[in-house]
Amino acid sequence: QDTLAKVDPELWAAVQAENRRQEDHIELIASENYVSCAVMEAQGSQLTNKYAEGYPGKRYYGGCEHVDVVEQLAIDRLKALFGAEAANVQPNSGSQANQAVLMAFAKPGDTIMGMSLAEGGHLTHGMPLNMSGKWFNVVAYGLDEKEEIDYEAMEALAREHKPKIIIAGASAYSLRIDFERFAKVAKEVGAIFWVDMAHYAGLIAAGYYPNPVPHADVVTSTTHKTLRGPRGGIILMRAEHGKAINSAIFPGLQGGPLEHVIAAKAVAFKEAATPGFRNYQEQVIANARVMARVLGEERGLRIISGRTESHVFLVDLRSKNITGKAAEALLGSAHITVNKNSIPKDPEKPFVTSGIRIGSPAMTTRGFTEIEAEKIAHLIADVLDAPEDQAVIERVRGQVAELCARFPVYGK
Ligand code: PLP
Repeated sequence: QDTLAKVDPELWAAVQAENRRQEDHIELIASENYVSCAVMEAQGSQLTNKYAEGYPGKRYYGGCEHVDVVEQLAIDRLKALFGAEAANVQPNSGSQANQAVLMAFAKPGDTIMGMSLAEGGHLTHGMPLNMSGKWFNVVAYGLDEKEEIDYEAMEALAREHKPKIIIAGASAYSLRIDFERFAKVAKEVGAIFWVDMAHYAGLIAAGYYPNPVPHADVVTSTTHKTLRGPRGGIILMRAEHGKAINSAIFPGLQGGPLEHVIAAKAVAFKEAATPGFRNYQEQVIANARVMARVLGEERGLRIISGRTESHVFLVDLRSKNITGKAAEALLGSAHITVNKNSIPKDPEKPFVTSGIRIGSPAMTTRGFTEIEAEKIAHLIADVLDAPEDQAVIERVRGQVAELCARFPVYGK
């Protein structure tokens, strides 16, 4: 068989360059991670050739006996990992999982309530340009003056607007979320309670963040963030909602499921149930804490919400007179990858922003511990303190290269 290098050298070269980038840069994007070789092997398997519309045991195609085993393994492992009554492993992405919840429990024009994108929520929770914001009447809650979720305001909004669905979950919120409190008000106003745990799923699987499953009607997630699986989505639900969710995914939104990705999800769920994964998540939180402490207490930057209780935190850059956009580019030139991110009440536009988001999942996977986390935080601050100084960027880039060489990701 001809290799990719031979069949398509142009594409192969881009893949090689990306492999090198992943090895040579310190990855601090909170939603990214490095999967295991076993996960990649499953995703790169011949399962990509198979059509399997339907669900295990109830397919619309022949020859599904083996992919049925694969998908059932994924479902059973996922249910066990989070203690859920029912699960769907077919969503092609986190966004599609979220669309399925909207499709199952609301009709266009109905009111839904989620966390404002500007204060940490995700665009699929009601942002005006997203389907969730275009087709539904959105009521958004946000943060209080301590930059913690304003639970009282959220409860008042729920009582006033009686949404069909209440969403908890965020893409840029560093603290623990009180899912029980959300569940109480959802019950009181007769709303479906939906948690999008995409960012926290790995921490939850390991027991380091509150598990929403006992409290929620339905829980969605991506599989590729802290959970360290392939890119994709999942849905967990109470047994009574199984039919509505399954038919929203297929035939509601998707056709043939990506069984090669589902196989890779199954591997990731197996890995997530091991003691090694638990230790990994403990280190993820420790590393995020160290970086937030150094940047906040030693290097004079303001950490949004004051601290982190998870894998992620936001940094307010205004004291350094630098925008999120500029900081992202500067750090990028020093081979440290972060993303610009709006901070609460951000005076800058979302494409510019006054903040950056920093996450520890990927850097922890490559083996960095508190010692390296502390160094990296100082390197970040060094760059932000001297944005015009090319010598500083070069020095930092050298130190990044040295750290990366000592901790290879895939060792190639
Ligand atoms: N939900 C949350 C909370 C997220 O942070 C994200 C991705 O960043 C998603 C959903 C969407 O996932 P995807 O990019 O796979 O569509």
